[in-house]
Amino acid sequence: MLKKMSKLICKILVFILLTITTQIGGILYILVEFSTRRSIHKKYRLKKVMLFTIAYLVMTFLIVPYIAPIFGREKIKDTKQIESHRFITKLLNRNYVNPELYNVIKSISNSLRQSNRDISLIYLDANFPFIDGFPLFPHLSHTDGKKIDISFIYKDSINKITNQKPSISGYGVFEAPIKQEYNQIQICKKKGYWYYDFTKYITLGTVNNTLKISEKATKDLLLAIIAQPQIGKIFIEPHLKNRLKIHNPKIRFHGCQAVRHDDHIHLQLK
Ligand SMILES: [Zn+2]
Repeated sequence: MLKKMSKLICKILVFILLTITTQIGGILYILVEFSTRRSIHKKYRLKKVMLFTIAYLVMTFLIVPYIAPIFGREKIKDTKQIESHRFITKLLNRNYVNPELYNVIKSISNSLRQSNRDISLIYLDANFPFIDGFPLFPHLSHTDGKKIDISFIYKDSINKITNQKPSISGYGVFEAPIKQEYNQIQICKKKGYWYYDFTKYITLGTVNNTLKISEKATKDLLLAIIAQPQIGKIFIEPHLKNRLKIHNPKIRFHGCQAVRHDDHIHLQLK
């Protein structure tokens, strides 16, 4: 009895974990559980894992991209102009936006190309393919296809603007305030929001350690975002807004209950 209970709890936890990280994975897991008969055969478990993996990959890459539009979301296709920073974003179905935002990011990438040839719009987490109100953990606001995170633009050790980024996950390598700059991070942490900089733990490692933010190219990118009439809000840390000298009412402070935004830009439709 106890063994049965602990097995059931384990299965519920796997279901929750897969649902939180991939949206469709939890349901697929249940379907595979119900469709395979129990067996004492040694390879029974392995077969189940393989069946789940194949079903997941087929759904993610061959089926969901075609049915998501029925539910008002589109998969962002990788092109030279718009790219996902990591393959895992696509593997976990975190690369969907609504058609309006898709057009907006295409337009941003076009203007970015005009000011910075060869520079792509590199995105991080967007939204899941289905269900308005379903959050994309840990971004609780990415629930409706109208939000996306975009990387800053960097320059290498010889000051050449590049598509490389310093963090493997795309998050957690901060452009922190320098001494004389306004320090929102300190203020939020003093108020008790200890998790304000918790993304420093999810870099998944750093690469390209010589990279430095290109203030010029990142400003070009921000100006291209601001110029889109459909964009309602842009989040970056106040010290970067001041450093880049961009004063526009669309650039807002997200509040201490969110995480710090000096490692990426969050943008959302009106
Ligand atoms: Zn965001």
